[in-house]
Parts: sequence; structure tokens; C-alpha cells
Amino acid sequence: MALIGITCLHEHGEGRTWLPDSYFRAVERVGGVPVLLPPLPPGTAVARLVGLVDGLLLAGGGDIDPVHFGEEPLPATGVISPDRDRFEIALVRKVLAAGRPVFGICRGMQVLNVAAGGDIYQDIFLAGARIKHFQDAPRWYPTHGLHVCSDTLLARIVGDRVLRVNSFHHQSVRRLASGLRVAALAEDGIVEALEGMGTSFVLGVQFHPESMWERYPVFLELFAALVEAARRHRMRVGTRQEMPAPG
Ligand code: MN
Repeated sequence: MALIGITCLHEHGEGRTWLPDSYFRAVERVGGVPVLLPPLPPGTAVARLVGLVDGLLLAGGGDIDPVHFGEEPLPATGVISPDRDRFEIALVRKVLAAGRPVFGICRGMQVLNVAAGGDIYQDIFLAGARIKHFQDAPRWYPTHGLHVCSDTLLARIVGDRVLRVNSFHHQSVRRLASGLRVAALAEDGIVEALEGMGTSFVLGVQFHPESMWERYPVFLELFAALVEAARRHRMRVGTRQEMPAPG
């Protein structure tokens, strides 16, 4: 069975690392073995984790420190965790280099893009957002639509269509990293999903499928696709023969 590493939320003030149950329950529901990954400092432990997991799930959470894409923080920047940023960026780079499947949710999609060399709008209004992307409705409730792009990995998973999703973000993807492409757009042009153009499974969504799958089973398909890709990757290369990369 595929082992799926899930990154955690991190509150630097309290010194607390945690994850909403809905993430690991979704992975378990579709036949994966979830394991929670704490925000470790860079080093051999991170490389070892990459060698252990068959796939990576990047959870949502606070803002990325804009220093990671070369900007000063705007007043709209929210709570940041330096430890989590550093850990996730290092982890994503190693996972991408190893060709392991990765699925990023909300902040996780933004981390994926930044780690791969892209950047984000620190505030969604700079991106020209015209619809409400931080809903006050219940977490499971879809408040805006998105258009899934044709001939994408995302279209193969959820169908080539308009999908209604929840929305809890005040930032959005700006410049895509090389090797990534847009997989879904909201009506106002905000990037709602991105994916890799290579052979390995790389997917990010700006919404929160972990809060929706219990009511709308289509969102469970995203987790199923990650677990299936991780299972296939494990069969193809074997998981525990690889030497950890230096650093
Ligand atoms: Mn949105």
C-alpha cells in the first residue's frame, strides 16, 4: 500500500503542529496509508522522509513568507511559519527531483509553485479578483465555480467541466514555475488548479477538497488519483532502494 506523507499546519507561537482529520481520513478512505510529517529543519532527516514516502500531500494553512519569491511582505500578509515554509520548500524540491507524486491543497498549491520557481500575488486583489475567494459559508459548501481546462490531468480525474468549489484564500498564483501549467480557472481569471507537464503526478488545487469529499464524492477522486500514482511509482522504482540526496 502506498505511504502518503502529509505536511502539517504549524503554529510557531504555541509551538504546535497539527492537521485536520479530514486530510488523513481522505487518504485512508481511498486505500493509502497516511503519515504526518512535522516541519523538520533542513538536513538528512528531510531527505530520509522523501525516501520513505511514496507520495506527498501538502496541506493548506497560512501564508508563505514572500521572501521565498524575493518580495517584501505587503500589509495583507497573514500569519507565517518560517519553519513550515523552509521544510515544505525543501521537501517539494526533493520530491519533484525524485519524480514522486505530489498533490498540493490551497497553500500547498502555492508552495508547489514557489518551490518550483514560480511566485504568487500576495493579495488576490492585485490579481484582479472580482469574486469572493474567502467565503463565510460553511467549509464544505461550494461558493464559486471553476472551469477545468481540457486535456489536463485534472480533467481526466474530475471531468472536463465547470466544478463548484469552496474558497478560503486571499492569495493566488501569479507566475507559473517552468514545467507547470494552469489546470483550472475561476470566472475572474484566478488560477484554481495547476499541474505538471512531465510524466510524474504533480497537481495543485486552490480549493479545499478535504472539506468537501464527505458530501461530494467527486472530490475524493483527487486523493484517489494521488494514491494510485504513488502506488504505481512505488511499483516502478521501489521505494526504499534510493539513496537520500545530499543536503
Ligand atoms: Mn477561489
